[in-house]
Amino acid sequence: MRKLTVTTLALAFAAGTLFAAGTAEAKKKFISIGTGGPTGVYFVVGQSICRLVHKAAAEGRKTGRKHGIRCSAPSTGGSTYNIGQIREGELDFGVAQSDWQYHAYNGSSKFKGNAFKKLRAVFSVHPEPYHIIVGGNSGIKSWADLKGKRFNIGNPGSGQRGTTEVLMAKYGTKKSDFKIATELTSTEQSKALCDGKIDAYGYTVGVPNAGVSVATDGCGAKIINLQTSVEKGLVDANPFYAFATIPKGTYKTTNADVTTFGVMATFVTSADVDAKVVYEVVRAVFENIADFRKLHPAFRNLDPKLMIKNALSAPLHPGAVKYYKEKGWM
Ligand code: GLU
Repeated sequence: MRKLTVTTLALAFAAGTLFAAGTAEAKKKFISIGTGGPTGVYFVVGQSICRLVHKAAAEGRKTGRKHGIRCSAPSTGGSTYNIGQIREGELDFGVAQSDWQYHAYNGSSKFKGNAFKKLRAVFSVHPEPYHIIVGGNSGIKSWADLKGKRFNIGNPGSGQRGTTEVLMAKYGTKKSDFKIATELTSTEQSKALCDGKIDAYGYTVGVPNAGVSVATDGCGAKIINLQTSVEKGLVDANPFYAFATIPKGTYKTTNADVTTFGVMATFVTSADVDAKVVYEVVRAVFENIADFRKLHPAFRNLDPKLMIKNALSAPLHPGAVKYYKEKGWM
């Protein structure tokens, strides 16, 4: 009898515990942010946002303002992969180039006939010049010199792969014009260049970054200028492109300013993601913007007032708008 009572109590206790755990779990929300290769800047964007979301959670545990969000930011194939996975509901957020945000929302370029109308902008981050990085002794000084060379066009799903294809179309360059067109990831390309396996690669990325320095500082690779009538035409015709400078002294081999065209890195989500979640993520970032700026040299000049309007072509997510209005920024 006594034993039975204890068992009953134990069961009741177990049920109570389970119930409590179930309630806590229901309140916990796991979000994932798609980034890029581990040596790029997108990976740092994702890791930094998660860090600030967790910082806000820790503060909330003290003040009672709990958001319950747990965040992870795995490395991925890059911009177009992230947009595709957000559409599938596999990722909640992602970092994407402003050109691919535009095309995905408007159903143009790579996304022709396949518009993603639920794509939502959250904010823009750092500028990303399009780099062509060439072997120190390759003799390549312009796009035309890439003819007959081993050129890395990038992995499918990366932003640079798409932007390289846009340039190829504008210059009238076919894959067969290169000796080989490789599809290495951003993590593989600098080592391949230094090992003499490729002659050059194209990469859209924030400045400075660890991946590029492997090639420039590690084996004397150089970044070439891209400012012919082709790039001028692209910049003139498209709101998501602008000319950009990679300043002298950025890397060991940057002994003069490099002029090229570029895009902005942007942070995006889907209209299907809960406004409360978007609000909390945005709040964690902007309440801690001074910390965010310190997490990578490419974030040094981030200005909230510009981040909420520059380079965004999809509509802002209502969860983000709520915070921006509270701050009086809109
Ligand atoms: N812009 C690249 C892309 O869209 C990623 C650059 C980075 O990883 O920082 O795939």
